[in-house]
Amino acid sequence: MENLDKLLEYQKIDIELRKVLDEVERSDDGKKLEQAKTEFNNAKNTVTETEKAAESIVSFYNNALAFMTESDKRIEEIAAKMESTEDLEEQRALAEELEKLSAKTAEIEKRLGERNDRTDKVILAYLDGQERGKKMRSVYNNIKDRLNKFRQEKEPKINELKAKLDAIRPAIPADIMEIYDKITAERKYPAFVQAREAERNHYRCFCGLELSQKTQSELLEKGNCRCETCRRLIYLNK
Ligand SMILES: [Zn+2]
Repeated sequence: MENLDKLLEYQKIDIELRKVLDEVERSDDGKKLEQAKTEFNNAKNTVTETEKAAESIVSFYNNALAFMTESDKRIEEIAAKMESTEDLEEQRALAEELEKLSAKTAEIEKRLGERNDRTDKVILAYLDGQERGKKMRSVYNNIKDRLNKFRQEKEPKINELKAKLDAIRPAIPADIMEIYDKITAERKYPAFVQAREAERNHYRCFCGLELSQKTQSELLEKGNCRCETCRRLIYLNK
């Protein structure tokens, strides 16, 4: 096969590069970073939800306060009217209105009491969410810094290997390079494999598959063939 040595050199460097990239991508910190991000987002959601709950509580308070103020005014008016009138009918009507107002006021006071419990809970959840969020953000930032540092440390090596690959690439036929890129895009390493002699005059692929008669003829004729299962390029060592 044309420029087989170049091809194998390319593959060797590419595998080395893949290992470094995998190291960066699969580092534990990367996983921890994802976790911290999820936890931070959960805390953020708690804060957002409790903020909404707090808003509804505040609006309830404001409405209750407005009603109480109005109600107080009206009660004073009624009391004044009751004192100034001798009319029994009117007094009875005013008393009825007073009773209704008192009932409504008592109910709102009761609900305000219930709200106090809920308010305390909302405030606690809010503070807890904020605290967790702060903690998680700091964890996240620490991990991110470490990961960046790790990447930076590996960067010169990655660049060096990439430059080497770029230098060899032109020496490899374009159609072969295309096959290589396609196989390695599926993370199948090595992509180019030497034919393994299974029995006399029989060959196997790297993946274990024994070559068919037809593929084997192609291998013997051209010096290379594609595996029928894994699609790797199999070459014959001469
Ligand atoms: Zn195979």
